[in-house]
Order: sequence, then structure tokens, then C-alpha cells
Amino acid sequence: MITLKEALTLNKDELKKFKDDLKAKIEANPELNAYIDVKNVGEGVPIAIKDNIQVQGWSVTAASNILQGYIAPYNATVINKLTDAGLSPFGRVNMDEFAMGSTTESSFYGKTLNPVNPEYVPGGSSGGSAAAVGAGLAIAALGSDTGGSIRQPAAFCGIVGMKPTYGRVSRFGLGAYASSLDQIGPLTQNVEDAAILYDIISGSCEKDSTNAQRDDKVTPSLNADRKLRIAILPDYLENANQDIKDAYAKAIEALKAQGHTIVEHEMKDSKFDISAYYITATAEATTNLARYDGIRYGNRVEGKNLEDTFVQTRSNGFGDEVKRRIMLGNFVLSSGYYEAYYVKAQKARHIIKDNYAKIFEDVDLILSPVAPTVAPKFGELATPMDMYLSDIYTISVNLAGLPGLSLPVMKNADGMPVGLQLIASAYDEQTLFDGSLSLERELNYKA
Ligand code: GLN
Repeated sequence: MITLKEALTLNKDELKKFKDDLKAKIEANPELNAYIDVKNVGEGVPIAIKDNIQVQGWSVTAASNILQGYIAPYNATVINKLTDAGLSPFGRVNMDEFAMGSTTESSFYGKTLNPVNPEYVPGGSSGGSAAAVGAGLAIAALGSDTGGSIRQPAAFCGIVGMKPTYGRVSRFGLGAYASSLDQIGPLTQNVEDAAILYDIISGSCEKDSTNAQRDDKVTPSLNADRKLRIAILPDYLENANQDIKDAYAKAIEALKAQGHTIVEHEMKDSKFDISAYYITATAEATTNLARYDGIRYGNRVEGKNLEDTFVQTRSNGFGDEVKRRIMLGNFVLSSGYYEAYYVKAQKARHIIKDNYAKIFEDVDLILSPVAPTVAPKFGELATPMDMYLSDIYTISVNLAGLPGLSLPVMKNADGMPVGLQLIASAYDEQTLFDGSLSLERELNYKA
């Protein structure tokens, strides 16, 4: 597959032919189930779009039954930024329902398969985005990352996935999961493409009050030759298996070979991460999902009266994982428990943020696992708790609002990709991309 950088040099006729061929290739490979549908809109370079980002006139369903039939009335800001830059939204890609999950198994449209080996999950929630790029069925894709949903599927499919600093990319037109954690970001074939796509979608937006309103860009000064101080976290690998430890050792050697300085640090209090994240995320999700009542959006099941209509619509429209989280979110926000759970989770969130800040007083970047293992096989994460615990390495980055980039480091004995992430301090995407480019260059990973 051509890279995004190459695609941006194609002329109109070349691009048209490329898109016709791409559409045919996608339609010839339906078993992967990466795309929900393909729509060739505009004349630009095609980008696959996660089904929770609004493209005017397209269905947008967050892979949920409750939003079947809903048509986006306007473009998300990122879509306007794409089209302004000569790119075109090209097909909706699969995801976990409302971005809640790590495997795409909670999608209304059924699961997406891992393009490296169909017995394995592609990761989630942006599993369709990662599988499409990994399979050579997309040049690049947009996903969203609330607690790892870009970085983890990228790692599982052997591609690059980047979560920007909270506030860098407008959330206007993104179906909200947890508003204080969600960020849209790129999934691409390499680091340079991630930087290009990040530059295109990031920047100010009047319609998002949580946007940082900053328009500085990274690509004009991408520099893989910069020598950086990079923290490694030996104790933090306790929960990771041998594949991840091997990749970590390999990445450290590669970073040293590139002339970076490696320093050991400790990731303190990471035992708080899972609870702080799942309390915060479910509390915000329960609030955001209250709007799907059968009156304003998508599917409705008529009940005996208004309240019954709400109950029937929501009981029928939401899947099990979403219901579980709505219940948990309501519980942690209910009077009597609010201080015990929600307020405490916010205190933990501050501690997590401070711990990162302390490490960044000494270093430019942190090297971290993305997940405790490579992609599991379907059915291997047997309970919801198994799935939540597997988020251990991604969620603190969202809680602290930091940028992170996952890239493939090696393959394990079964041929599955092992990805790791670099994490930077807030708004330092420049250093994140510079360091990632240098690591990618040294590793020379082949899909
Ligand atoms: N797996 C995590 C969750 O289910 C992260 C999802 C995400 O980033 N959207 O909440």
C-alpha cells in the first residue's frame, strides 16, 4: 500500500484509479469486517473513518443498534480539516459499541478480525481502523482514544497509532464516550504519516470549548537526529509477559544505538490506574449516553408511555457492555457513593498526573508497554474484568492528558506484532514524533 505521503503527490486521475481499485479490494475482502461501508466522497486522498466521527450525510452509529438509521447532520471538525487539506473520508470502519471495549467484539456489526492472523482480535475500540490499515485496505485511518483505543489496536495489528495531547484535536462531531479523556488521532503505516495526519486534524476549533486552541505543527521540523533523554520503567513491566519484555529490551537497545540517553525511573501508584479510569470513564459515559432515549436520535421502541419508551428503547438498543458501564457510572455518581468513588477517582487522577510530571522534569520521553501481551485470541479475555485489566498500560496516559504513540517493535514466536509506546509531556508532540521516527528508523520493522 502506498503511504499517505506518497498518496498526497498523486494527480487527480491517478487518485481516482487508486480509489476505484481500493474500493474493489475492500469489497473482495469482506471476511475481515474492517469496513462497515465504503463511500467514495470527494476527490481527495481516501481516509477510513471510525464510526463515531460524523461525516455529513453519512450514517454514524458508534457501532450501536440504538443509532441505526441516524444520519450525521454536519461534519466533525476533523472531517472539515481533512477535506480542507485535500483528503476525503472514505468508508466507515468498525469499532466496539460506543468505543467501549478492547477487541471490537461489542460491535453491533460483529467482530473485526486481525489481518495478521484471523484467530486473534484486532484490538479495540478502533479495531476496524487498525485492521483496515494493517490489511492494506486503507492508506490511513482516524480513530479515537479514551483509554488506549488507538494505541492498542495499532500495536495488535503491527501499525502506528497516535493519541494527541488532550485538547489538541477538536472533539466537535465525535460521539462522546468520556469527554475528559477522548481524543481523535491517526492510525497509519509509519511515523511520518502519523505526523502528517496529526498536523492536518489538529488545531483550534471554536466549537469545542475543551480545545487548546493551538495551531503549531510538527512536520516542518520533524527531526529523527535529535538526541533525547528517555525514561525506561523496569518495575512497570511486572504485569507484562515475556513478548513485551523482549520488545522492551530490543527498543532500549535501538534507542541507545540512535544516541539517546536512557534513564531508569519508577511509575509510582499505577495500582490506582484501573479504578480511577473505570470510575471516571463510566461516570462520564453514563451522562453522555443519557441523550439516547429514542426521542432525538436513531432507533425507537414505542412503549406504553414515555417512560416505558425510554426503557424499551435503551434496553433494546444498547449491548451488554454498554449497559454494564451505564450501571457502573450511575452507581459511582449516586448520592452517598459520589464522594467515596467519583471524587476519590479524581484525586487519584491528580496523583497520576503529578507522577508523570515528575518524570518529565528529568526526561523528554517515556518508553512504555501498550498492553501486557500481544493480541489475545478471540475468547481469551473471558470476563469483562480480564478486559479492563488489560488496559493497564494505556489508560494513565489519558488520565494525565498526555500524547502517546504506539509503534511496532518486533514479532513474537507466533508471528504476532509486539508494539510499544513512547509518551511525551503535554503539547510536546514534536518530541514524540522526533523520538518515534528515530526508533522506527533503527528498528526497521517489516510487516
Ligand atoms: N478499552 C478501554 C475501554 O474500554 C479503552 C477504550 C477507548 O479508548 N475508547 O474503556
